[in-house]
Amino acid sequence: MATILRGNPYANLILEQCKTDIARLVTSGIQPGLAFVLVGDDLASKIYVGRKQKAAHLLGIRSYLCQLPEATDTDSIIEHIDRLNDDPAIHGVLAQQPLPPSIDTLAALEQIAPAKDVDGLHPCNLGSLATRRDAGLFACTARGCVFLLRQANITIAGKTATVIGRSLIVGRPLSLMLTDAGATVTVCHTQTRDLAAACRNADILVVAAGCPKLVTADMVKPGAVVIDVGINRGQNDKLCGDVDFAQVKSVASHITPVPGGIGPLTVAMLMRNTLQATKNQCADE
Ligand code: NAD
Repeated sequence: MATILRGNPYANLILEQCKTDIARLVTSGIQPGLAFVLVGDDLASKIYVGRKQKAAHLLGIRSYLCQLPEATDTDSIIEHIDRLNDDPAIHGVLAQQPLPPSIDTLAALEQIAPAKDVDGLHPCNLGSLATRRDAGLFACTARGCVFLLRQANITIAGKTATVIGRSLIVGRPLSLMLTDAGATVTVCHTQTRDLAAACRNADILVVAAGCPKLVTADMVKPGAVVIDVGINRGQNDKLCGDVDFAQVKSVASHITPVPGGIGPLTVAMLMRNTLQATKNQCADE
């Protein structure tokens, strides 16, 4: 039976360290500020932003909510982002996704100043990651996955890793991070011909597709480490991941639950990125 890798204890390690560092900054007159741009009335997005605001509040990060109507267009969101970029009290800016179809998402994300891009989605930050520069803000969920593996003493170097999903926010940065950590990485997506074979080849399998029960027990190599990033609404509106947890836990060596797996680490890494962004901006002044 697999070891269940719960995210909260690991997330708390990050949050405690952030809290100490933030208290020191506040004493020296600097209060980190994190702004959320939330467009429309999507309930899940509101819940996610609420959770992130709560975490920020507990650490002493001042959070700002820029709530815009569903009908917001690209020019208008860019104007708001420019204002947040210019505000010295704000060190981090996050545009909660998904943005409505009336907005060019990539244009909006590229408008966020790279120094304030706490989601790590600006081409400058993704470029820093791709070119293995340490100075950059990198995607929170991907960082959370690697942190969890390291903290759980799971060796990455020399392992085969399969990542399902190639999004800018999870799959792509994670595949780069795992490659840098020494894994041989296969990235799967909707056009992958034999997903099951790619999964069965993996010592470390990370699933970030957004499809409930996409990964079943017969697709998992016995003893593999399975990280389930997916968050879906299942039966009775209950949250579930992309992995058939009940079955896969008897094949894997380690597995993350949903909820309570990678989610808390994503929030913690967002706080760490905000702290890092604040320190960088204050050092530049
Ligand atoms: P996305 O829709 O942008 O990307 C999904 C990726 O999965 C795509 O590259 C797609 O090609 C691939 N994919 C989808 N269905 C597939 C299938 N049947 N076979 C193979 N590949 C398939 O989504 P995203 O933003 O990357 O998020 C993925 C999931 O992770 C979602 O459920 C999201 O809610 C969740 N998520 C969780 C956290 C967290 O903190 N736990 C953070 C971000 C995203």
